[in-house]
Amino acid sequence: MTSPSNALPVSSLSDLGWRLEDSAALSGRPVGRPARIVQQGRGAWHGHDGTRELVLHARSRHLEPTPVTGDWVLVSGDDPSAGLIDEVLPRRSTLARAEAGGRSVAQVIAANVDLVGICAAVDAVNPRRLERELTAVWASGATPLVVLTKADLLETPRVDAAVAAVCIGADIVLASAATGLGLTDLRSVLGTGVTLALIGPSGVGKSTLVNALAGGDVLATREVRRDGKGRHTTTSRHLVPIPGIGVLLDTPGMREFAPWADEEALADTFPDLEELAAGCRFSDCRHEREPDCAVLAAAAEDETVAARVAQWRLLQRELAHLERRRDARLMSAEGKRLAAVHKAAVQRNRIEHPRR
Ligand code: GDP
Ligand code: ZN
Repeated sequence: MTSPSNALPVSSLSDLGWRLEDSAALSGRPVGRPARIVQQGRGAWHGHDGTRELVLHARSRHLEPTPVTGDWVLVSGDDPSAGLIDEVLPRRSTLARAEAGGRSVAQVIAANVDLVGICAAVDAVNPRRLERELTAVWASGATPLVVLTKADLLETPRVDAAVAAVCIGADIVLASAATGLGLTDLRSVLGTGVTLALIGPSGVGKSTLVNALAGGDVLATREVRRDGKGRHTTTSRHLVPIPGIGVLLDTPGMREFAPWADEEALADTFPDLEELAAGCRFSDCRHEREPDCAVLAAAAEDETVAARVAQWRLLQRELAHLERRRDARLMSAEGKRLAAVHKAAVQRNRIEHPRR
């Protein structure tokens, strides 16, 4: 595993995003030292304890949840550069997607992220993808920020109306690593210990943006991470703490994006449609063939609305599918619990009424 943050002048836990309330939550408990996961690998993690980087292993094979980049963990052991993870602290936010391949398993991308920069190249924005990513971010507990990259490619950098129409409730930043446009805006929403994760397809300029925000140290380490073909050799996620700037996380590009979310997050992404739906004749209108459907009426008049409605319904179906699968798993856990209760009752019965 390469280490991106060896050279970084991190000197305290707060540089990594540790908060006063985190310390308060631990007070009075006999615990190990806190560290933040800066990189995850197979069965091993790189953590940072505010003074140095540590190689970490799980104390138990049953460590729950599995630590991901951004997690705060409690570490024990006498070795200053290594340790065992005893516990994963409760997450402030969890950014996840449904695992590719139609499996209803959450793939956690990052934990304890404050802001998620949803990146898209300004000249090739896919509004449908933005809707998917926004839904995942609303569900995560972090705040979304839409970053339109490579703004230098436009003669007059501006936000397309069709793009603005899908970013309701999220700020939009026009950015260019080439000209520096938007970097001041991004820095102004960041700050020491504020964690920003960048998501989006590969090639939109996420790594370049991290480098532009961070400066030379990260650039140098990024060089190491490119192989002869000039591409990243690693697909793991690196957390890069930069005092005075923030804690930056560049995620690998994901071709498809299925949000891990619920109905509530969907309502956050489509508040305009929720509002329209309030005007439908039937309160349980499904906006398919119902009479006096305000959503269908608006969609008939406006292509942008029609495309949004189609995506809204598609995501509703996807999330309902996740929900059913999740319920199925909850049911099986409940089934196991009942089976255990039953077994215990049978055993008690045998003790109280032994068979002759
Ligand atoms: P990532 O896969 O999202 O991390 O994308 P990279 O940061 O590796 O960038 C992909 C390509 O876009 C590279 O060839 C960069 O030089 C180019 N690029 C990145 N940022 C900008 C920018 O602000 N303007 C322009 N014109 N090109 C950029
Ligand atoms: Zn309707």
